Amino acid sequence: MKSLHNYDTLNPTRKGEMTMAETEKSRLGAELTARQVTLEGDWTADEARRILAVFERLEALSDSDSAALFNGQPTVLQHSGRPGRVGRTLGGRVILDADWTDWTLAHELGHRWNNAWGRAPEQDLRTALRAGRLEWLKRPLRWFEKGLERLLRKLGIKARLDWPALWYHPGDAPPPCGSDRNFNSSEDLAECFASFVFPEDSKSRAKNAAKKPVKPAAHWDWGRQHTGFIQTPRGQFLSRQFKATHSRQPSQPRKR
Ligand SMILES: [Zn+2]
Repeated sequence: MKSLHNYDTLNPTRKGEMTMAETEKSRLGAELTARQVTLEGDWTADEARRILAVFERLEALSDSDSAALFNGQPTVLQHSGRPGRVGRTLGGRVILDADWTDWTLAHELGHRWNNAWGRAPEQDLRTALRAGRLEWLKRPLRWFEKGLERLLRKLGIKARLDWPALWYHPGDAPPPCGSDRNFNSSEDLAECFASFVFPEDSKSRAKNAAKKPVKPAAHWDWGRQHTGFIQTPRGQFLSRQFKATHSRQPSQPRKR
């Protein structure tokens, strides 16, 4: 970092502003480092502030510190350099598009959390909710359905083959924010995680999803039965998981 003497000493106001910006940047960097979070690529100070705010929210709501929550493993946040609002997670690396939202980050942190514990949370959620019934059969059939759709398109037949009966079964409780053919146990866990961090967003997403003209949608609006996400069976599951984190010893990082 540059020392004060390198700045324009003829303009004390500007000098002061730069110092403040530098101080803020290093404060954010230190806060994220303390959480074992590294920012890779060009992130603005505003983005770093938003990232930190999501972590702070997660810590407050889960009553855990980030390092313990993520099994003592580091997390790298990387810009995809592409337009869009999508994110993806590979092991401990979260990649976000340029117009990422706080929800997207929380969702991807759900995947990252799942990876940090060897994907046990995803399996435990499935067991706890008795979700994913007949998934051994449905999953290959969904692949077949998508493959057939692509083949028909190549032949000039534009058809959307999407049979809700083949979707992942959400089990004994509504999915966090609706479902579709891309929904599975991993997405279920990530959506639960995002819903835990942003329960109001989740509630309105579930309400909107319930308006879809498909049969299973009738049960998706969990806000009609529960005041907040934490009261839902999925919210309760996550609460139990986060409480268990307190008594867990960090396990060895796994190569993924
Ligand atoms: Zn996802």
